[in-house]
Amino acid sequence: MENCIFCKINNREIPSYKVYEDEQVYAFLDISQVTPGHTLVIPKTHVTDIFEYDETLAAAVFARIPKIARAIEKAFPEIEGLNIINNNKELAYQSVFHSHVHLIPRYSKDDDFKIHFGNHAENYTGEELAAIAEKIGKQVN
Ligand code: 5GP
Ligand code: ZN
Repeated sequence: MENCIFCKINNREIPSYKVYEDEQVYAFLDISQVTPGHTLVIPKTHVTDIFEYDETLAAAVFARIPKIARAIEKAFPEIEGLNIINNNKELAYQSVFHSHVHLIPRYSKDDDFKIHFGNHAENYTGEELAAIAEKIGKQVN
C-alpha cells in the first residue's frame, strides 16, 4: 500500500534490521527497542489491523509467532518473559496502520515496559458476565 511505512520496509524501500522472513511474514527490530530484541512481525500483505485479517492470513501470521518467540529466547537466554502485543486503532496505541505484532522480551520489572490490567470483577454479577459473553459470542461467525 502506498505511503505505508511497513509496506516500504517490507519492499526494502526503507531499511530495517531483519530478524526473519518467509513468503508470508517479515520480522524486524522495532526502532524503539523498548527492551533489547523488541521485534515486530508483519504480514507481507497490507492489512490495517486485526479486524481486516481473514482466517488464512491470520493462520499464516500467528503460526510464525512461537518460533520467533523461541528464537528471541534462545538469543537472549537471560530474558525472564515475553510480552506479545497487537495494538488496534489509535485509542489502543496503534501508531502504524499496517498490522503488526510486538514481541517484547522482558528482563526485569524495571526494564521500561509497563502494562496495566485493571480489575473490575467486583462490579459484575454472574448474570451480567453471561450476558456480555452471549452478546459477543453470537456475533462470531
Ligand atoms: P504501534 O504503536 O502501532 O503498536 O507500533 C508501531 C511501532 O513501530 C512502534 O513501536 C515504533 O517504534 C515502530 N516504528 C515506527 N516507525 C518505524 C520504522 O521506520 N522502523 C522500525 N523498525 N520501526 C518503526
Ligand atoms: Zn502496509
